[in-house]
Amino acid sequence: TYNFCAGPAMLPVEVMQQAQAELINWQQHGCSVMEVSHRSKSFMAIAAKAEQDLRDLLSIPDSYKVLFMHGGGRGQFSAVPLNLLSKDGEADYVVSGSWSKAAVEEAQKFGKVRTLDIRRNQDGQRSLVAAKDWDIDPTADYVHFCPNETVDGLEFTELPHTDVPLVADLSSTILSRPIDVSRFGLIYAGAQKNIGPSGLTLVIVREDLLARGQGKAIPSIMDYALTAGNDSMFNTPPTFAWYLAGLVFQWLKQQGGVAAMARHNQAKAERLYQFIDQSAFYRNDVAPANRSWMNVPFLLADDSLNDRFVKEAEANGLLALKGHRLVGGMRASIYNAMPMAGVEALIAFMQAFERSHG
Ligand code: PLP
Repeated sequence: TYNFCAGPAMLPVEVMQQAQAELINWQQHGCSVMEVSHRSKSFMAIAAKAEQDLRDLLSIPDSYKVLFMHGGGRGQFSAVPLNLLSKDGEADYVVSGSWSKAAVEEAQKFGKVRTLDIRRNQDGQRSLVAAKDWDIDPTADYVHFCPNETVDGLEFTELPHTDVPLVADLSSTILSRPIDVSRFGLIYAGAQKNIGPSGLTLVIVREDLLARGQGKAIPSIMDYALTAGNDSMFNTPPTFAWYLAGLVFQWLKQQGGVAAMARHNQAKAERLYQFIDQSAFYRNDVAPANRSWMNVPFLLADDSLNDRFVKEAEANGLLALKGHRLVGGMRASIYNAMPMAGVEALIAFMQAFERSHG
């Protein structure tokens, strides 16, 4: 089977096999990695290796802390304003789709937020205003945005040029292509797409921003400075997810790193979009410049066939293709772990379905 779920998503089969082999008797400890203390030497060693591997993969500068937190993307929707928004200050929030909009709604609970809606819909084609044209307030505490909108299938890679710290939700794009971490003030990502099991949340934060939370009433498990000061072990971290993320990072290195992933992801996405574009039966309404490499939504010419499409796909081993309830239609999430063979299998099924129902 190939699992096209947007998250929790498919993990590399080699990683799952290793985790399975080690599950009960990890490193000859006589117990599972999820049963050992997070403060044990052996766990601390894999925790440190996972961080170093991530640093290598993304070339994270030394002036950034890597935090392994709880609470997923939505946890960060709260943690970011709690830590970074000053008492009388304001933050700019760029709205490009469902998740960046949800981030606004959460941030508004904690302070002043100005929204910049960059969504465009021209002649039925969806696109986004380029970052160079965003009207960022130079006095904002930070500017928040989401470069890959998982629900909407919209992506952008260009970053704005401003001295205002850039804060980005990379939940569904991290590790899928190279990024220049030094351009960001803070990056966060829920693990359940390109990293590992849900629950674990990565935060990469420039050290000077850690002081912003000082003197504020921030729940301890959301406090960046406290988390950094305790090597992400102020409370019990999600140890199994951290271990598994470490295996995924090793796998990524074996695949040739993030640059190799980018080539693989671009090839998969282009193949699928090309197939959709040449078909009169399927369509994607995102402007080519903003099409996501990770989440490919598509519509059937005849809506009434949606349920049948999903059912028949599942019977053919192609899982979780139903589109998000806000958008409808279908969505194929093709994160790092999805092989080209999975995309080819999907296209072959789509062709057969079109032949029998078109
Ligand atoms: N941000 C993005 C881009 C997402 O795709 C998701 C979930 O799919 C979230 C945030 C919310 O993440 P979580 O469910 O971990 O809170």
